[in-house]
Amino acid sequence: MVSLIPSPETVLDILKRTGAFREGHFVYPTGKHSPHYFQMPLAFRYYDTARVLAVALSRKFRLERDISSQLPKIAVVSPSSGGIPVAFGVRDALSAEQIYWAEKEAGRRRFRQYVNQGEVNPCIIVDDIIRSGGAIEETADLVKELGAPVIGCGAIVRFTSAAEQFQGNQIRSLVDFDAQMYDEGDECADCKKGVPVEHVRFEKRESRRQKAEGTKSSP
Ligand SMILES: [Zn+2]
Repeated sequence: MVSLIPSPETVLDILKRTGAFREGHFVYPTGKHSPHYFQMPLAFRYYDTARVLAVALSRKFRLERDISSQLPKIAVVSPSSGGIPVAFGVRDALSAEQIYWAEKEAGRRRFRQYVNQGEVNPCIIVDDIIRSGGAIEETADLVKELGAPVIGCGAIVRFTSAAEQFQGNQIRSLVDFDAQMYDEGDECADCKKGVPVEHVRFEKRESRRQKAEGTKSSP
């Protein structure tokens, strides 16, 4: 089974081929420069690619006894819209009973109304990409409010700057990526070479802790 999980190189090739992973000289809305840009939904627009990635991630979960022993009474939960196709694919591969996704409403991450305490199975939280881990953290809080334990979490790509573990769960990922962010100018190799920049949109996922710190430092 382990041998059926594609290597990180193979996964990166798939992401490149579909446009989900691009190399270049990118400027993020924060002003930071980076030689990489991920737009994960582009990999999930193709059924075959989506299936290969979701099945691979599901195999990592299936290898965990705490998860495999509880199937099919498991919920697969996405923190945001980007994780929904991943959640559906993983649910399908595991034949898990339930699927949930959170949505941002007035700046707060929530589940749909009328999901009640006790209805939610033990949860695996999955996303397309884990940048800071903030989205996973917020979603785990929501799940706990509903009285369900988090028994796993994972994503197709995890930035190595995010935690490796979350509440005792090892974060499962197909690629651990060392994301590089630079200030404009000398620090950025592409600036030095005079490579033209490309401005990108970016769904920023801050953790609540970072937001709180931001609030404290603002006047
Ligand atoms: Zn630059």
